[in-house]
Amino acid sequence: MSITTRFAPSPTGFLHLGHAAAALTAWRRARQAGGRFLLRIEDIDPTRCRPEYTAAILEDLTWLGIDWDGPVRMQSEHLDEYRAALETLAGRGLLYPCFCTRAAIAREIAAAPAAPHGPDGPLYPGTCRALSAAERAARLAGGEPYALRLDMARAVAEAGPLRWHEEAAGWLAAEPARFGDVVLGRKDVPASYHLCVTHDDARQGVTLVTRGADLQPATALHRLLQALFGWPAPRYAHHPLLTGADGRRLAKRDGAASLRAMRQAGISPEAVRALAGL
Ligand code: GLU
Repeated sequence: MSITTRFAPSPTGFLHLGHAAAALTAWRRARQAGGRFLLRIEDIDPTRCRPEYTAAILEDLTWLGIDWDGPVRMQSEHLDEYRAALETLAGRGLLYPCFCTRAAIAREIAAAPAAPHGPDGPLYPGTCRALSAAERAARLAGGEPYALRLDMARAVAEAGPLRWHEEAAGWLAAEPARFGDVVLGRKDVPASYHLCVTHDDARQGVTLVTRGADLQPATALHRLLQALFGWPAPRYAHHPLLTGADGRRLAKRDGAASLRAMRQAGISPEAVRALAGL
């Protein structure tokens, strides 16, 4: 079976060595198997993404010797597709509008006797799930901003037990309920990381997702969305994250580790590939 991999960075800063390792991993896997390697720019967050970072990503990858198949997919150009996917779930009663502000959620959690935590922090307490149909309609009619949340209990009941294939570990049980009622449509854009990444992996025919181990827990949620939409499940290979000299994972805030800084310091692409362990 031919494989299709992808590298899907968010243009919120310059690429660093950790990104180089992730991109090279996906690219090598595809090229070694005679498969396809895709580049996708995950730029749905208008407050954090900048076109100059997108341009820098393409330039830095090319400098590293990475080439990609077909056009680069820009998520910001496909909001209509994400909106349509949300409408499908809403039509099945699996989403509800959430009018809560972050501050209101934090207050409610602080006041609760117990605050269950998921992989991404405290779970949403479900305030807006409990609204009456009349109140919901009134607030929608009043133009109050809202996010769209997944009714996790219903979604899990509909999907049944799920698992995914993790290359180094075999079949793992997916337990998306740990995330609670996640936001699938944000207040500012009709999309979210979890929805877009799952939608696009299916839409682009990705068969092997290679990405950092920090995203492994989210795979449970991605499997749930694949099941709800009837999309095929790719196989997954999460790789360990590179750490800096201080033992902390590399992050965009460590400007010195950016590929541009290395290039400007005269480091060759071959040396960067060696540093990335590839
Ligand atoms: N856009 C995500 C990031 O930059 C990666 C998405 C993925 O590989 O699933 O962290």
